[in-house]
Amino acid sequence: MPMLMNPSPDNELYQARSFLRIGHCIYCPNMDRKPLSDEHIVPYSLGGVDILRAASCTDCSKITSYLEGYCGRFVFNEYRYIAGSPSYRQRPSTLPIHVWRQAKASKLYLPHPISIPVEDYPHELSLPHLPLPGIINDLPPQASYSRSMQMSRWKFPGRVGEMYTPITPGPFRNEFKADVFARELAKIAHSAAVATHGLSKLNWLLPDIILGKQKDHLPYLIGSDQIAYRPSPNALHQIIFWLKRRKDDGLVVAQIRLYANLQSTNNIGTPIYVVAVATAPLS
Ligand SMILES: [Zn+2]
Repeated sequence: MPMLMNPSPDNELYQARSFLRIGHCIYCPNMDRKPLSDEHIVPYSLGGVDILRAASCTDCSKITSYLEGYCGRFVFNEYRYIAGSPSYRQRPSTLPIHVWRQAKASKLYLPHPISIPVEDYPHELSLPHLPLPGIINDLPPQASYSRSMQMSRWKFPGRVGEMYTPITPGPFRNEFKADVFARELAKIAHSAAVATHGLSKLNWLLPDIILGKQKDHLPYLIGSDQIAYRPSPNALHQIIFWLKRRKDDGLVVAQIRLYANLQSTNNIGTPIYVVAVATAPLS
């Protein structure tokens, strides 16, 4: 198995750039649709600041907005506020929560809504461990992720427990949608690769997966590194590219680490996701 954090000398490392004007939708480049909107590489709601100018048509924007919304509201949720994402201008200073409070007359403990400072809010971040993408080891395509997915959890008890007994630590979480999360990783990898390489040079693997048109290749192209790493204190999000040389071509692979700086009690950082982005002729 390749050591993804230690690419061998014949793997070329790339670093994502930003603020390019593309002038075509990066998800359906042959449709020549206008108007085009700007596209964040990492979602703005997660603190992403790198933008591709004029890079997404209206139809594709609706789909990627859904993917970003799922990640923002259901995966990272309140952690976005605690992390203090630099671009999150509407960051609230308080968050609502229900606590048990004793009623004066009956002495019964009843649910009571209060607002507490963001720093005191109890929450939990859960991120999935996906298998390594099959394409990395030349395994045959797999149709879907396992239902019993291993999740890493980071608990942030906050300080509300010192004063109250909280009932609901946040909005109700539905079952984790690994496919939607993986498609958002694909979107981040694809847009970062376009920023680095331009739109036309490579044979792109991900647009139909991002748009939901191809549903049976997600574990083949999108997964996780299988090793746990320490946090990277100086980085909010990290995207690194490397080239895996194959017999007839090269495979452009992205490593994505969201909230790379997350500090936890056991000093294990967030997972590093591995996404096969494109193939390229070897020169
Ligand atoms: Zn489009």
